[in-house]
Amino acid sequence: MKITILGARGSIAISGKEVQEFGGATSCVLVQTDEEALFIDAGTGIISSPDIGERRISVLISHPHIDHLTGLPFFPYIYEKDRQIDVYAVRRGNLSTSMMLDRLISPPLWPLRLADYNSDLVCHDIERAFMIGDIRVDLMEGIHPGGCSIFRITHAGHSLVYATDYEHDEENLHSLISFANNTDLLLYDAQYTDEEYETKKTFGHSTAKIGLQVMKESRAKQMRFVHHDPHHTDSMLREMEQAVRSDSVSYAREGEVIEL
Ligand SMILES: [Zn+2]
Ligand SMILES: [Zn+2]
Repeated sequence: MKITILGARGSIAISGKEVQEFGGATSCVLVQTDEEALFIDAGTGIISSPDIGERRISVLISHPHIDHLTGLPFFPYIYEKDRQIDVYAVRRGNLSTSMMLDRLISPPLWPLRLADYNSDLVCHDIERAFMIGDIRVDLMEGIHPGGCSIFRITHAGHSLVYATDYEHDEENLHSLISFANNTDLLLYDAQYTDEEYETKKTFGHSTAKIGLQVMKESRAKQMRFVHHDPHHTDSMLREMEQAVRSDSVSYAREGEVIEL
């Protein structure tokens, strides 16, 4: 699997010279195999998708907060005629995947409806593990306002776990640790410093310190921290990274490629 971090910023997209290194685009990770192009979340990072050739396109949505969906109307492949794009998400707030997308992408909030784009967008409501070609997708429920799915993507004996918009509590942390058991790559929400977390409990995000605990107890082989706070500049993120960095742990940088 070839993993590309297309967006690692949390909450809202930002720009400017102080965020060049880690990037300002919101959540999107591309997983490519020979046959499949699987995008996890459709934040503004999805706008910068590389050329995926003839691979089949699937988009997995962890939850429908705007920062995880707002790139979809500018996804280059949504404009391509004869392209099928399969979008998968768990129903949230009694809304199906298709209803959630329609809420955000339809007048008067947006000039077009999804049905107006050239591609053929097919929405799926998911509840349990399923296959996309030879990729297996497992999911568990994390802790986040409104709910959020954590995904484990497995292909040809390798796996990654995508755990963003996740706030730890003791019981759920145990579930995550066994869910991430022995994974090759853990992507973990470390939006807050320990000090920030003290005033931001219940906001639905975690810290690098807890991420390190998950990595150690799950025996994950490597980890990237994601969902960087929009107020954290490159120099702040470098400083936070310095405290935890090792050969196998760092803060995700937009454009970074990891081969599993
Ligand atoms: Zn988010
Ligand atoms: Zn969220």
